[in-house]
Amino acid sequence: MSIVNKPGAISTWYLPGILSGLWLTLKYMIRNLFDKKKMPTLNYPEEVYQYGPRFKGNHILTVKKDGSIRCTACMLCATNCPAQCISIVAAESADQRVEKYPIKYEIDILRCVFCGYCEEACPVDAVRMGPEWQTAGLNGSSFSYDIQHLAYRPQLKGGILSRVDDEERHKFGI
Ligand code: SF4
Ligand code: SF4
Repeated sequence: MSIVNKPGAISTWYLPGILSGLWLTLKYMIRNLFDKKKMPTLNYPEEVYQYGPRFKGNHILTVKKDGSIRCTACMLCATNCPAQCISIVAAESADQRVEKYPIKYEIDILRCVFCGYCEEACPVDAVRMGPEWQTAGLNGSSFSYDIQHLAYRPQLKGGILSRVDDEERHKFGI
């Protein structure tokens, strides 16, 4: 298809296009000022988007009833992680019924792709992905989440209890 611009045609003038663009901007600006409900955007950070309950946001390491970390350092999450961003160092547990526990559990959140495989792989509900999604930080170290951050950050209000209870499992011999 060929387009022939007729000399002198109104479409070749810039001014009508510019003015209609400015009018459109002004129209939406006035509409948004007086009818905020129709605005397609949010005034972040005053207004925060609420995602659904299945949203996979920042990781949480759950805790037991005594407040200690639930993780048994089995390495299944780290093995399943496609981004290889979970690093765990295990130590022998003093509790005879639990073989190991992590002395270091770190997630490099800049490498994480938020796929949820770690959560799926964990047999004891020790790692979960929660509703938080803000990951802003001032330097590189703030993107490496350690046990203190994953299990005991202030937003978790003392820790999130695991659904898999050791006491119950030992009672039934499993
Ligand atoms: S969400 Fe995916 S990429 Fe992120 S730590 Fe878990 S398994 Fe790895
Ligand atoms: S978080 Fe779960 S899967 Fe990962 S090491 Fe701990 S117990 Fe194993």
